[in-house]
Amino acid sequence: MRTAVVVGGGIAGLAVAAGLTQRGRQVEVHERAPEFTEVGAGISIWGNALRALDALGLGDQVRARGARPDRGGFRDRRGRWLARSSGELVLIHRAELLEVLLSAVPAESLRPGSTVRDFPAADLLVGADGLHSTVRGAFWPEAAAPRYTGHTAWRMVLPAAGIPAFDGSETWGDRQVFGVFPMTDGRIYAYAAAAAPAGTRSQSGELAELRRRFAGWPAPIPSVLAAADRADRHDLYYLPDLPTYVRGRVALVGDAAHAMTPNLGQGGCQALEDAVTLAMVADDLPRYDALRRRRSQSIARRSRMVGRLVHGPGAPVRDAALRLMPDGLFRRSLVSVLEWQPPGDGVVHRQDRSEPC
Ligand SMILES: Cc1cc2nc3c(=O)[nH]c(=O)nc-3n(C[C@H](O)[C@H](O)[C@H](O)COP(=O)(O)OP(=O)(O)OC[C@H]3O[C@@H](n4cnc5c(N)ncnc54)[C@H](O)[C@@H]3O)c2cc1C
Repeated sequence: MRTAVVVGGGIAGLAVAAGLTQRGRQVEVHERAPEFTEVGAGISIWGNALRALDALGLGDQVRARGARPDRGGFRDRRGRWLARSSGELVLIHRAELLEVLLSAVPAESLRPGSTVRDFPAADLLVGADGLHSTVRGAFWPEAAAPRYTGHTAWRMVLPAAGIPAFDGSETWGDRQVFGVFPMTDGRIYAYAAAAAPAGTRSQSGELAELRRRFAGWPAPIPSVLAAADRADRHDLYYLPDLPTYVRGRVALVGDAAHAMTPNLGQGGCQALEDAVTLAMVADDLPRYDALRRRRSQSIARRSRMVGRLVHGPGAPVRDAALRLMPDGLFRRSLVSVLEWQPPGDGVVHRQDRSEPC
């Protein structure tokens, strides 16, 4: 049987492992953490990634476990709508997304607590080990290091009790942004981002910093911050474009290949697209590169562009321009991102495992 070693058991690694298993490969997934789980935050899974999950036979489980907001969009600092988003979207806790992916990987494939430094022999080695990928470091020694965007982000999950119902939104102020979305089981996912030097942390604590920065912002932001009991902070990096995602029998997926800013909510979604595509064309790695690199790098560039719009100066001019945009233009500009379809027949998940071994 053909073999694959996957380094990293995050969204990308588990999704690849699920897809390769479904295609009849014998897979090992090495994860340096003692468990396969994720930080306490939500993640938005857009229609393109839901179709990737459908190809793995997992889309409906994710739809059932996540919240499916039917309204929402972007607001200005005073809470007025700038643009409404549309298209299928699921807001799910990251740990729950990983649980769904894990359910499609055989227990005997999982190697928790295993930090890969040397690379075991296999027909295929997959680098799914994130922003600071060891696989990329070993096989792409010339690759540029990840770059700091100049911005830091905070994430929170908190109980919704006592907070009046609201539509999910991202509120754009002058150089900072606050997002807040209802989740399932009476929880709220909130995040914020602002300019800050890399590696700095607030002397007064991150929640106190957020309450200070976002005092006076429109509802429900102040009550969300009052109800939160912790906020995790991460500096935001992106990876300069790689010339290829494939070297010999090695392929990169997810953040290891194209870590991007979170402004389009597409980093994890692109990881899911990568995973499904790789599972389908694993015997033809140059095809994987051809199918994935140009698209994911162009989405990463668009995400940085939106970041510059959100965090740049001149919020009143930006907001006025967005308000003048014809209804639907904003949505149409995202069609090429959201309407992705898996290659081939669009099905990784099969009952028979009849692919030649
Ligand atoms: C603030 C913020 C908000 C975001 N919001 C969204 C969103 O709403 N929607 C969306 O689609 N994306 C979002 N993203 C992006 C998304 O989180 C990432 O793109 C996604 O998590 C990447 O998954 P990954 O599996 O490639 O990498 P990772 O999640 O980084 O997983 C890599 C795994 O590899 C393991 N590992 C690393 N090195 C080794 C080694 N040597 N041996 C073994 N294991 C190793 C790590 O422990 C880790 O578990 C956001 C990102 C940020 C920072």
